[in-house]
Amino acid sequence: MHELGVAHSILTNILEVRAQKKLTKIISINLRVGQLSGFQKEALETCFEIIKKDTELESAILNITEVPITLMCKSCQKKSAIEQLSYQCPLCQSNDVELVAGREFTIDSLDVDDSQPMNNKVL
Ligand SMILES: [Zn+2]
Repeated sequence: MHELGVAHSILTNILEVRAQKKLTKIISINLRVGQLSGFQKEALETCFEIIKKDTELESAILNITEVPITLMCKSCQKKSAIEQLSYQCPLCQSNDVELVAGREFTIDSLDVDDSQPMNNKVL
């Protein structure tokens, strides 16, 4: 399960950020995972539950937002979320499209208990 490795690197990154910024308590970690990233939401959650034990992040919750595969069509100027990767606009059938979302794997933000939610692009 390659999710275990990536869950571990998330944990390591957040622990570093926590130390650098002297955060006392991290309530939740908000992750954006594209459908094309190759990572399964459930598997990531399970792995994170396992590896966070006995660390400073034991009480932190991993919130995963799944990002659909999204095309931007240069012909009709519209965005479409699609189920499976294809390079054809579902609206006008043009092939002049650009993949604008679906590959991301980023830590979007952290919620900490004593300040505003903060943005942290750490991966
Ligand atoms: Zn189109």
